[in-house]
Amino acid sequence: MNGKLPSNIKCIVVLTFDIDGVSGAINMNPNSVNFPGLMSLREYGPKIGTPRILKMLEENEIPATFYIPGYVAENYKDLVKLVASKGHEIGHHGYMHEPPQTLSKKEEANILDKGSEIIENITGEKPTGYRAPGAELSEYSIDLLAERGFVYDSSLMGDDIPYPIKSSTSEIMEVPLHWEMDDVAYYNYAPSLGLRQFMATQDHLYQVWSTAFDAAYHYGLSLVPVMHPYVIGRPGRLRTLERLIKYMKSLPGVKFMRAIDIARLYKQ
Ligand SMILES: [Zn+2]
Repeated sequence: MNGKLPSNIKCIVVLTFDIDGVSGAINMNPNSVNFPGLMSLREYGPKIGTPRILKMLEENEIPATFYIPGYVAENYKDLVKLVASKGHEIGHHGYMHEPPQTLSKKEEANILDKGSEIIENITGEKPTGYRAPGAELSEYSIDLLAERGFVYDSSLMGDDIPYPIKSSTSEIMEVPLHWEMDDVAYYNYAPSLGLRQFMATQDHLYQVWSTAFDAAYHYGLSLVPVMHPYVIGRPGRLRTLERLIKYMKSLPGVKFMRAIDIARLYKQ
């Protein structure tokens, strides 16, 4: 597809949730496990945030994509099954949230295989979509993903609609994102990690994201919010997201899709 959507669709919204849990903090610094406050902040994601998000999505009849590190999947098997049972997509997100460019090619390959195996053992299906922890691929990532039959990656920022990227022997699709649409950019407050930036208000988030949506709608593009249940799963923030979803749904031709579905649509 050359950027032209089917005539009944004006804009595709792909809601994505990275259930990082404690994995990212532990990967950055194994000593994080000795900080109960930080651990509880992150555990809130799979424990409290994700079930609340699932309920909201069900009430609004919206399919979404959840990227889950293998370590989190192992520790929350029932949650992974619940996500899959609701028809949402489960994508690969490393094992302990390892950014690929911090790994050797062999380590990266092993983590891809390990994460896929864990998810397949829980849901019965291998993931076909990948998002790099930290949203930064390595020089090997695309080849490794293509060799393993992944349909798409969602870590790059090179367009406003999905596009193909070449591996050395074939190609996969890219479902691009942007930091503007990442909840962490607005709310990443964690004193034990030295993060004390001023938190955005819910109205600020609504203003930026609804403006981005209006523009995507105007130009006939796609919008891929990147969200984290430990961030967006907090009550006031989730209600703000729901307000935005209701606004999106009020316009004709807005279609909510899982990342795998938009990747397949644009692959045609
Ligand atoms: Zn992540």
